[in-house]
Amino acid sequence: MNQQPSAPPNSLTSSDGGMSLSLQATLDLLAQTIVNALGFEVAVVNLALPDGSLKVVSCVGPPEVRDTLLGTVESNDTWNRILAASGKWGLLCFLDHAEVVDGADMLSWIPDMEVSDEPDAWHPEDALFAPLYASDKSLLGVLSVDVPRDGKRPDKMTCDALEAFALSAALALEHATLRSRTEEAVGLLRHLATHDTVTGVGNRSLLMERLNAAVEARDATGSPFAVLFMDLNGFKRVNDAHSHAMGDRVLRAVAQHLQSMTRPEDIVARWGGDEFTLLADNVRDDAAARELGERVESAISTPIVLGDDEFEVTASIGVAFSSANDKATADDLLHNADAAMYQAKRHGHGVWVYDESLRVAAQQRLHVEALLRTALTHSRLVLHFQPIIAVHDGSVAAVEALLRLKDDDGSLLHPSAFVSAAEELGLLVDIEHAVIWKACQQAKAWERAGHDLRLSVNISVRQLSDIDAFESVLLGALEDNGLPARKLTCEITEHASLDVSAHTSQGMRRLVAAGVSFSVDDFGTGFGSMTYLRAMPIQEIKIDRSFITHAPTERTAAAIVRAHAILASELGVRCVAEGVESSEQHTLIAAVGVGFAQGYLYQEPVTADQLLDRLDALTLTSEPAQLTGR
Ligand code: C2E
Ligand code: MG
Ligand code: MG
Repeated sequence: MNQQPSAPPNSLTSSDGGMSLSLQATLDLLAQTIVNALGFEVAVVNLALPDGSLKVVSCVGPPEVRDTLLGTVESNDTWNRILAASGKWGLLCFLDHAEVVDGADMLSWIPDMEVSDEPDAWHPEDALFAPLYASDKSLLGVLSVDVPRDGKRPDKMTCDALEAFALSAALALEHATLRSRTEEAVGLLRHLATHDTVTGVGNRSLLMERLNAAVEARDATGSPFAVLFMDLNGFKRVNDAHSHAMGDRVLRAVAQHLQSMTRPEDIVARWGGDEFTLLADNVRDDAAARELGERVESAISTPIVLGDDEFEVTASIGVAFSSANDKATADDLLHNADAAMYQAKRHGHGVWVYDESLRVAAQQRLHVEALLRTALTHSRLVLHFQPIIAVHDGSVAAVEALLRLKDDDGSLLHPSAFVSAAEELGLLVDIEHAVIWKACQQAKAWERAGHDLRLSVNISVRQLSDIDAFESVLLGALEDNGLPARKLTCEITEHASLDVSAHTSQGMRRLVAAGVSFSVDDFGTGFGSMTYLRAMPIQEIKIDRSFITHAPTERTAAAIVRAHAILASELGVRCVAEGVESSEQHTLIAAVGVGFAQGYLYQEPVTADQLLDRLDALTLTSEPAQLTGR
């Protein structure tokens, strides 16, 4: 007799191999103990399936019996009849199969068994059954034994022992069922915690979990992968023009497009808002990662039809590829993919793969950010000054303060390297306040040295959005340094557009009434030069260098310069030509009536001391204009 239990699948196996293996082992052990200790040839555990039928999940006995029985599913008819007749917890009954047809027969038979201590012959067709009930009385399964080796009906003690085994089997099944239900609930909770409720794809935490696993696998086995960061272009318009509900539907459709073009093992996740991420294993190299990005791009741009509306969504996609020997962490890779996405966005849309140039730029950016954070405390703000001359006689009419940021090695960074970073970090406003104060202090020093110059400072439009704070900073700096307000011009530089509110324009008018001038810098190139002229009190425009550069050789540029001069004259405001580098440009602006000029032709920006030396020399020699004669 082969008494080795075997392990058939049962309905509790599917959700968790570990747990049901231990259940299987328990049931097998029970069955085997019944066979070994109670002297039966066959012991079987049947599991109740959801449809009411019973499946043999454990069987100990002769191989031929085991092979025949294991895994078989018995319809519930027979069992129902047996259980209807004897279905009380722990009740055991002998059955003569000839009589099974009628529960009453069986019932009439049972008392015999229960009262009889007399061993009786075991009928070959007899079996002993114990229904296995859960504590809520639902049927979990049935334990049955067959053919006692001594050929006799079991005595009361054996029946009691069988009842105890049945109870154990029921407990094991109930325990496993509860665990399986708990696992189902835990699985559901886990799904909710790791998936996005709007689109159904993964969320940030799923992506990070899998990305960390991919990094570990890369470090252990060198397996390469790619992570993609996608930002939908102009998605805000969908929300604005339709509804947020429609926006959600579009996001769902985008998620479906992404899911349908990826492999099952890839992870699509919504990062937030209109940003999605994709983690793809086994991507060969940079080129394959780019191809993947391009396929994703075209999948996303598949038109989305929702009712009567059709949406064409495009995305900017950043790709970071990682392979053996790469030391990048999950955070690094996401950061890189994000940086590449921004690079794609800067180019309108499309796919950008993170590479060395972006790495250098990102490092430089981090360095600049660190410098900016300590700009005020570590005296990193340095001002250079450039004269603005009166075109008709070359005298220095004003000086523009131009900011530099001092690096640790003493070198100076120009605004193009740090102004937008300062703005994004929210540091620009405070930095400009410091610049205004320093510049006023410097202008006062020149005044004391006998040079009556106007001072121009650059301010970002952001300053104007909190005009009350700006007003008090400006008036405070003037008062602290004893500089008259009429000496100060604020050049409005544009890094973002500004909706000029009535409150802003009133505040500006108060400052103008106090004597301060406002100038529109880089006129003709920004977001709203003309709008500013109407909405703000403006006393000066500065014609952008790009027009001045081309004016001598390009008719359109020359016409624009002339038009600016006329506009300024009509409005009664000062007109300054920026970036004058050649005598042809000087002649041209003089001819069209531009009143003031600034540029390398006259003087490059220099330190305050250098400028003072030149101003002194100029005063001594009474030489007009062309300070350095470049
Ligand atoms: P901007 O106010 O239009 O300043 C003129 C820029 O043109 C300066 O560059 C100056 O060095 C440069 N420049 C002057 N003459 C010539 C010329 O003949 N040829 C050429 N090619 N360039 C000339 P810089 O100092 O690098 O400043 C660039 C921009 O940075 C400024 O443009 C201004 O928009 C911004 N900026 C400077 N200081 C500040 C500041 O304190 N706050 C803010 N928000 N922006 C500032
Ligand atoms: Mg300026
Ligand atoms: Mg300018």
